[in-house]
Amino acid sequence: MERKLTRRVYAGRLPIGGGAPISVQSMTNTSTHDAAATLAQVHELEKAGCDIVRLAIYDKACTDTIKAIKKETDIPLVADIHFDYRLALAAIEAGIDKLRINPGNIGSRAGVEKLVSAAGERRVPIRIGVNSGSLKDDMVQKYGHTPRAMAESALEHVMILEDMGFYDIVLSLKASDVPRTIEAYRYISQRVDYPLHLGVTEAGITYNGIIKSSIGIGCLLAEGIGDTIRVSLTDTPAEEVKAGIGILKALGLKQEGIEIISCPTCGRCNIDLISLASRLQEALSGIKSPIKLAVMGCVVNGPGEAKEADIGIAGGKGQVALFKKGSIVGTYPEQRAFEVIIKEIQEMMASGCFGDNTSL
Ligand code: SF4
Repeated sequence: MERKLTRRVYAGRLPIGGGAPISVQSMTNTSTHDAAATLAQVHELEKAGCDIVRLAIYDKACTDTIKAIKKETDIPLVADIHFDYRLALAAIEAGIDKLRINPGNIGSRAGVEKLVSAAGERRVPIRIGVNSGSLKDDMVQKYGHTPRAMAESALEHVMILEDMGFYDIVLSLKASDVPRTIEAYRYISQRVDYPLHLGVTEAGITYNGIIKSSIGIGCLLAEGIGDTIRVSLTDTPAEEVKAGIGILKALGLKQEGIEIISCPTCGRCNIDLISLASRLQEALSGIKSPIKLAVMGCVVNGPGEAKEADIGIAGGKGQVALFKKGSIVGTYPEQRAFEVIIKEIQEMMASGCFGDNTSL
């Protein structure tokens, strides 16, 4: 998949844009005043595979939490700040790796200059985040509630930073509906080469949110647009990360962990495939090595998929045929399928088949 080449910025140790792997972000939802709870959530996100964590910084006390987290982990942290440039200065002082602000509504020109100069000195990039729900009146009057209004609004903020000689910029243009989000990103991608942070904002509760985000983010990524992503869900932040990684894996943009190819089952299926696939997913979810496992109900598509996977089964009448690296290696009663697959994967991992020997 050809990706649009954008400028590269660094959030701490993490490159964004310029061909860097697409990073997955989330945001803590603990009170930022509660350093212990926020740190615990940051650790949880790291464990889930998150690359960048954003914190809401709404007063000076929140910046103490940045310092506390920085002592414990080097995961890049982003400060999400509105209206007060002095909080951004304090966040930079506390060691923040990236800022999310909108220069047009963060304070006076003199204030923005101070903040931009501090960010420039420490090479802290700034994400300009335009949301469709908070467009300025003049933009709405000129362009209506359109993708163009979002993009022009972002460009207005960009110009403020460029005027000050600041180019470590990331952009996001999020609407809560998918078509507008896609159009806005397509438009801005033609106009600038800053890295883009993709997301569908306020996408909703888990099921709907994942569908909207997968379509919006996935469509853009498939066109080569986007450098970092956040799936916004009304759910725990770790679920956002799981969904984000799932989107990247589905597009072949991340090869990590177990990928289960399983059939939807039909009248030809004579094993309890749904339960088997769910148990395997659960048992193998902690694996980091890229392993493709096929769990198929019958001989129609089963042997073909199972042969293409690292390991796979095709169901028969109360039994399964086991395939490994393209060849059939045995037939087992259905009841033993789970343990046989787990054992085979353990053995393959131990022999370095997938590049490491991470245990289950
Ligand atoms: Fe049905 Fe077999 Fe296809 Fe599964 S693999 S959906 S059981 S035909």
